[in-house]
Amino acid sequence: MQRGTNLGRLGDFNQAVIFASIRRALDGVSRVELAESTGLSPQTISNVVRRLLDEGLVREDRTIVSGPGKPRTVLELEANRQLAIGIHLDPALITLVMLDLRGEVIASKRYPGPAVEDPEGTVARMAEAVEDLIGASGQLRSNIVGVGVVVPGPMDTDGGHVTGPPLLDGWSKVEIVKPLAGKLNLNVILEKDTIAATIAEVWHGTDQEDEQNFVFVYVGAGIGVGMVLNGEIVRGVSNNAGEIGHYSVGEETTMCVCGRTDCLAGATSFETIARKASEAGLDLGIAENAGVSERAAGMGRLVELADGGNTAAIDLLRAFARRVADMVGQLVNVLDVDKVVYGGPYWDLISQHVLETADEVVNERFSAKDVHGIRVVNSGLGPEVAAIGGGCAVLDASLSPKPSVLLLG
Ligand SMILES: [Zn+2]
Repeated sequence: MQRGTNLGRLGDFNQAVIFASIRRALDGVSRVELAESTGLSPQTISNVVRRLLDEGLVREDRTIVSGPGKPRTVLELEANRQLAIGIHLDPALITLVMLDLRGEVIASKRYPGPAVEDPEGTVARMAEAVEDLIGASGQLRSNIVGVGVVVPGPMDTDGGHVTGPPLLDGWSKVEIVKPLAGKLNLNVILEKDTIAATIAEVWHGTDQEDEQNFVFVYVGAGIGVGMVLNGEIVRGVSNNAGEIGHYSVGEETTMCVCGRTDCLAGATSFETIARKASEAGLDLGIAENAGVSERAAGMGRLVELADGGNTAAIDLLRAFARRVADMVGQLVNVLDVDKVVYGGPYWDLISQHVLETADEVVNERFSAKDVHGIRVVNSGLGPEVAAIGGGCAVLDASLSPKPSVLLLG
């Protein structure tokens, strides 16, 4: 649990800490309980709660009787008072979600993949999709605080565009933030898929002690990680931290977008997997020069074969998981975290075949195993995890405790 501070100039920080506590208390929380959990004085709690009540973000009109003693009046979240929209732009699919203040999905929609040859048209369709989602949700448009667009990295946050994402040919330097904000008249932020997924995991973690130090391994159209150290997301200088796809696997495989031939991204690309599948006698129906949707369908066939018990297919998926886990194990040694969460649209499809392998390899690689182990788990957020993270990032911008911001003040 994040602790507050009673120094006056940190008012916004305290508001964020108190708000986070109310947000997490599904059955409501009393002022006394807030004072205990945050370490803040009753006066500070009272000041902040008054502000939150004035803004309509919380209500305090319900009394709970639990056990002996005085009934307690609880503060509860007005969950629909502020809503955020997350859009995940994946090479094969556009996913939209609407989140309430708790970060829960209250509406969602999926569209077939972005047209890579027509980025401007796709941005226009994203704007229409947002309006459709708002219309279908029945929520007030005035309660929407912003839109978080999630893209494969690398990206240029300042310029508001993707810089040269793998599998999104034609999208380099396409402006997303400004045109979308203009069309929607809403705040729009850009977030990388791996970092967005990590933000979603932080928001939805049930055990706060558990969410302080972990690595999120995102397995989507590409592979990357998000890192949380001491409760803070590691963003790097340009919000592009976590590109483990360019770690060397120590042997030549397939040409990577960076021009090298020994990258993890190349070793785990659709192209490499399709070639190994064909060597193993599996026909995934992927042509040499297959497009994104054809490759995605081919991967779908590989998963179907594995689900049907085909051992060659299962072995192939496990070899893929081992490659990734080898790198994750090395990263875990560097960071000394105690948890690794795997998730993302492709991970969900294959996790039943490969989680155990990932767990074994990561723990085998970890050097301080006499001191502690590494828990390797699936994210519970499903294929929408990145879109959810885009929405959470929007909510985060105004709500969550951010010790790093304090360092600047
Ligand atoms: Zn590379």
